[in-house]
Amino acid sequence: MSLNLPAPAVALAIGAHPDDVEFGCGATLAKWSAAGAVVHHLICTDGAKGSWDPTADVASLVLTRQAEQRAAARALGATGQCVFLDWVDGELDSGVRQRWEVAYWIRTLQPTVVLGHDPWKRYRLHPDHRHAGLLAVEGIVAARDPHFFREQALPHHRPEALLLFEADEPDHVEDVAGFADAKLAALHAHTSQLLSTMGIDESAEVHEVEAQRAAFDERTLAGLADHGRLEGVAEGEAFKLIDEL
Ligand SMILES: [Zn+2]
Repeated sequence: MSLNLPAPAVALAIGAHPDDVEFGCGATLAKWSAAGAVVHHLICTDGAKGSWDPTADVASLVLTRQAEQRAAARALGATGQCVFLDWVDGELDSGVRQRWEVAYWIRTLQPTVVLGHDPWKRYRLHPDHRHAGLLAVEGIVAARDPHFFREQALPHHRPEALLLFEADEPDHVEDVAGFADAKLAALHAHTSQLLSTMGIDESAEVHEVEAQRAAFDERTLAGLADHGRLEGVAEGEAFKLIDEL
């Protein structure tokens, strides 16, 4: 188990959907942003399945979720880009076309550290999370070697580290003391997801909404405590670290 990478100059977090990055590594990105890192988000799908309302207008949901993702990035203090690849939510694949795009953005943004879903997490149900994880891994392989996708006409780029969140076998912790509030603020910025992923029903009575919000915050903080305990810190985010890239 290792603790704390040096704050990178540039970090690129790759998520399947708007909000995945904040759940997986929001506090770490807030910490690095405060240390001067340029933090970018790369979101693979359009998030159009993120509603339990069968009558939802999905075209406007997509735009809402992009705006929420930008607000969440600001809440983390991130000063980089939010890039949306806009693949269909629920139908993400990790084929050559998708890999081409991820490699393009790794070469363009030149991250020191890439963060993504652990594609090898056992018993994972959501295919988008698995494919987004594979795209982070395989996008790095394509981006780092000069003969892959030469038509991109971009310099190849080899990041120094890959951190996989939701890790099946975590072996690295980032101490995030002082950055839990930023993570919570960023999660709350995904207002269209309050009901479906955070259990906050805004149509309920005010005191119930308050209680649901408090319960969500408590669960999130408990998660940081659990991750921190792996390496003896009060609040942490745990990852699988791959640094032989
Ligand atoms: Zn997701």
